[in-house]
Amino acid sequence: VIDPLGLPPEEMRRLGHRVVDVVVDHLEGLADGPAIRIGDPAELAAALGGPLPEEPGDPDAALETLVAVALAHMQFSNHPRYFARIPGPAAFAGVLGEWLGVGYNAMSTSWHGASGPIAVELAVCGWLAELCGMPPSTEGILLSGGSVATLTALAAARHACGPGVVYLADEAHVAITRALTTLGWPEEEVRVLPSDSDGRLPVAAARAAMEEDRTLGRRPGFVAATAGTTNTGAVDPLDELASLCGEEGLWLHVDGAFGAAAVLAPAGRAVLGGLGRADSLVLDPHKWLFQPYDAGCLLVRRPGVLEAAFSVTPNYLADVRVRPGEVALRDRSPELSRRSRALKLWLTLRVHGARAMREAVARGIALGEEAEALVREDPRLEVVSPAQLGVVCFAVTGAEEGEHARRAAALAADGYADVTSTVVRGRPVLRLCTINPRTTAEDLRETIERLAA
Ligand SMILES: *Cc1c(COP(=O)(O)O)cnc(C)c1O
Repeated sequence: VIDPLGLPPEEMRRLGHRVVDVVVDHLEGLADGPAIRIGDPAELAAALGGPLPEEPGDPDAALETLVAVALAHMQFSNHPRYFARIPGPAAFAGVLGEWLGVGYNAMSTSWHGASGPIAVELAVCGWLAELCGMPPSTEGILLSGGSVATLTALAAARHACGPGVVYLADEAHVAITRALTTLGWPEEEVRVLPSDSDGRLPVAAARAAMEEDRTLGRRPGFVAATAGTTNTGAVDPLDELASLCGEEGLWLHVDGAFGAAAVLAPAGRAVLGGLGRADSLVLDPHKWLFQPYDAGCLLVRRPGVLEAAFSVTPNYLADVRVRPGEVALRDRSPELSRRSRALKLWLTLRVHGARAMREAVARGIALGEEAEALVREDPRLEVVSPAQLGVVCFAVTGAEEGEHARRAAALAADGYADVTSTVVRGRPVLRLCTINPRTTAEDLRETIERLAA
């Protein structure tokens, strides 16, 4: 056998087991190490770059370099004190699912080439639609994350509805504005409305903007609402927006990349009323559904909308044509070759059940409330945005300019914890996102103490 890139089976096993051991050791010791470590560009380039390796090297030494250098310098999104941006508290069952798919080199593109993995992806999308309260006819696909899912959603919506004005709040994620720019959406058909004092898209202002646009001869077409803003966890009034879109004949897109998963817990469900009325909904399993990167999900209420926008039938794909009852996921987004991102979520749900996920999500919401209570007790700090969906923002009383960013940076440099510094209603704040169920009360207390000190 001539296989220049082959390894003997015993060597594959030895190295493979070594990788598993390294990962489990890493996860076991995670809480005792830093939440983030940022490398020096020159040092990392020296250790990891250099001349193209033309000749083979020692695999153990190469693995060791990846582990000790490359993977030692990053944000440990699983870490119990990683509170910055949106943590990624991945479950090990998800890691196993990902490893299996990669090991088999599973491609989830055509039914012909991936009926098994596609059946898994359809099942997973069906489960997510059910959890979000969308109808059984909902169709979905897993993509690299909220950004690509949003791009795919808006392209499909525009294909289905034709051109029209899209309404969104200024607290909407840049994934939406970037998708609009990428799609070449005309500037005069993008209306960014100031959010209200709670960081929500005001329905009355949206309605007024639509009327104004109609009188100017423009055609209102879409609302892009947010279920859980990245900044404060605020949820737009989804139910009212769904009714408005119904009356006006508009497409309702909901960006639930971060927050939609909160629907698994009673406290989240209470603020996510109307989520299931979305025409298209984005949620990120690599955020609050405990999956390793990457996985974003797009769900579309009306069957066939994705296929209408994306299906392709060149001659060289004639053999892998879709027959009745089959699905080709290449026809649901701009991706062609694509790995199966569904195996990991399927495995996590089969291993732990939705109930464990509900408990984990509920704990993240409760941790946000605990953090808020700790901030309220501290005379040096002031709550600026109360805990919503595991996000709480607070200010250091009497802080100088740049002080919040400096304190966040100092904590990251030390590695004890990582938090975000941002701006809420014009006010610089520190922000914690507490969706890791493995975070302890002590983790919260000590992190807040160090920020306040
Ligand atoms: C994270 C996030 C996105 C972007 O998702 P990616 O997976 O990072 O591409 C979009 N919207 C919201 C509200 C987010 O929190």
